[in-house]
Amino acid sequence: EKTVVLITGCSSGIGLSLAVRLASDPAKTYKVYATMRNLAKKERLLDCVKGLHKDTLDILQMDVTDQRSVLDARQRVGEKRVDILVCNAGVGLMGPLEAQSLDTMRQILEVNLLGTISTIQAFLPGMKTQGHGRILVTGSLGGLQGLPFNEVYCASKFAVEGVCESLAILLQHFNIHVSLIECGPVNTNFLDNLQAAEPGSSGEQVDARTQSLYEMYLQHCGTVFQNAAQDTDDIVKIYLEAIQSASPAFRYYTNSALLPITSPKTAASDGLQYIKTMSKIIFSTNNKVEQK
Ligand code: NAD
Repeated sequence: EKTVVLITGCSSGIGLSLAVRLASDPAKTYKVYATMRNLAKKERLLDCVKGLHKDTLDILQMDVTDQRSVLDARQRVGEKRVDILVCNAGVGLMGPLEAQSLDTMRQILEVNLLGTISTIQAFLPGMKTQGHGRILVTGSLGGLQGLPFNEVYCASKFAVEGVCESLAILLQHFNIHVSLIECGPVNTNFLDNLQAAEPGSSGEQVDARTQSLYEMYLQHCGTVFQNAAQDTDDIVKIYLEAIQSASPAFRYYTNSALLPITSPKTAASDGLQYIKTMSKIIFSTNNKVEQK
């Protein structure tokens, strides 16, 4: 019997690569339900699996912000069970906070936070009844540490951490494992797909000092991506490790060269060390000079 895997956000990036890898598994271990908001984008996925997918892949429409669409997709799972749920759909948002419109911020929280929660909600009762399950969530370093100009994205990903950590405690009693796959920068369309704040879309002007710090931040981002971005295959490997483990970890860090900077958060009770460390890393033009 195949392991039934349902993945959200499969039209591109990590979701697409994971769906392709699992559906093309040589041992045909998995039956993959690759879901995407817009079925018109399914060609890329179909191209990647090249006809090898007859009995291992189904593509379903699912917009994680539309509960009807989540429930419809659940209904279309032929096996009437999902063994592994992968909550991967997500969008970024970058720019000065005062430039973000309420609608855009709401959209980010709708997809990243409520979309993840409502997908889990839809499949949780089934997992409890069948007495087993895996919930895997694509997490982010931005869910573990604050990043300037990413306030709302970080808020959404921090919140996802809270959801998963809380659920994991309870779900131990149901033989359901929750794991976060914590990614640093990954070469996907994420940066192109992210919602950049359109200047003035909130009606607020952004001052020149903030603008110039934003430019410094973008430069820092570019360097980090250039030096440390992973390919989706690297992320898929970690996903496989979690999927194949008999007792999966709660957190997997995909990039050992770029771990979250968490210890300065608790090093002193005033909580300032992380803020200072990060500010130095991002905003000093010459780190070597500043840090000596
Ligand atoms: P991506 O933009 O290629 O993939 C995101 C996918 O989510 C897209 O296919 C998009 O269509 C889908 N999506 C967006 N809104 C949706 C909705 N309402 N319903 C269903 N699907 C929706 O980028 P990616 O890098 O593959 O992103 C996947 C996950 O990885 C996201 O959760 C993201 O936060 C996380 N992540 C990415 C990076 C990175 O640098 N790329 C870093 C850390 C975490």
